[in-house]
Amino acid sequence: MKALRFFEPRKVAVVDVPDPHAGPGEVVLKLHATGLCNSDVRVYLGEKKAAAGVITGHEMSGEVVEVGVGANARMGETVAVCPIRCCGTCSFCREGYRNRCPSRKTLGYDEDGGIAEYVRIPAQLVALGHLLPMDRAIAPQVRAFLEPFACVLNSIEEIGTGPGRALAIVGGGPMGLVHLVAGKAYGAGPILVVEPEAERRAVALELGADGVCTPEEAAAIGRDMTGGEGFHSVAMAVGFSDAFPTALDLARKLGRINLFAGFPPGSAHSLDLNRVHYDEVRILGTQNAPFHLYHRASQMLGRLPAIDRIITNKYPLADAAEAYTARLGKAGLKSAVVMG
Ligand SMILES: [Zn+2]
Ligand SMILES: [Zn+2]
Repeated sequence: MKALRFFEPRKVAVVDVPDPHAGPGEVVLKLHATGLCNSDVRVYLGEKKAAAGVITGHEMSGEVVEVGVGANARMGETVAVCPIRCCGTCSFCREGYRNRCPSRKTLGYDEDGGIAEYVRIPAQLVALGHLLPMDRAIAPQVRAFLEPFACVLNSIEEIGTGPGRALAIVGGGPMGLVHLVAGKAYGAGPILVVEPEAERRAVALELGADGVCTPEEAAAIGRDMTGGEGFHSVAMAVGFSDAFPTALDLARKLGRINLFAGFPPGSAHSLDLNRVHYDEVRILGTQNAPFHLYHRASQMLGRLPAIDRIITNKYPLADAAEAYTARLGKAGLKSAVVMG
């Protein structure tokens, strides 16, 4: 089959590899679509680690075409994947935080993932229930959005997003815009999207933001939108430490800020500690999502047509390397490799 391998920073290529087969407990999926994540781009740039030679792609959807002995899966079923392999027995796993398991392995980084014609799903992942049934009527690239959407649900849950609560999103890239879509689904408002690029601000308005502005305008417009109080929930959907003061300024007393995006190694920023003490601002981080939010995402995705609007760049598998290079510029929003 054809698959995209990551060899070393700035070196990925579509190559011929042997077709995978299902051993005991394992499943093989024929892939329909796999999304390209900003973290994949960070691997490409050498900012985040992945195994040399691994087939990349952790945001995948496809159909079950081979079921190993004893694997709990149905031939022909359409599924999306929670790509996390974990032990199931450590304290994090027992508390539901499979994403924090110390022995976590993730498909597409540590083991072969979904930018390929087929992927072998390890037995442990099948047994954990990490193949989630998805309606075939949902477009393949939207089904493949299960993982990033679950990550965003984790972010907006942690900052208490909900009806009548003002939400500010710093960064109007693909994941910032998904925060907007999810925030609206949770009834939050008003919602402000802070983004330097005019084109992205326009998409945010199209998707229903109550306000958009540049980082320079954020403090004034944020005050205006919230009667001077600030935002209950602030999501930082951009991995630049320079954007942190904007997020901090937008938070009201008792407001919650989530650092959603990963930062380059060694990133640091100073902080007025009295914003935490006197104003009781909570500063949080999320990475990936606990499993129940994958389930919720699988139930919600088909009802959110705005997600497809965010997936602007689609590539056939043969051109998958271009999906990486295109993301280095700011052309378009989310990229996906669509196999059909
Ligand atoms: Zn992702
Ligand atoms: Zn564990």
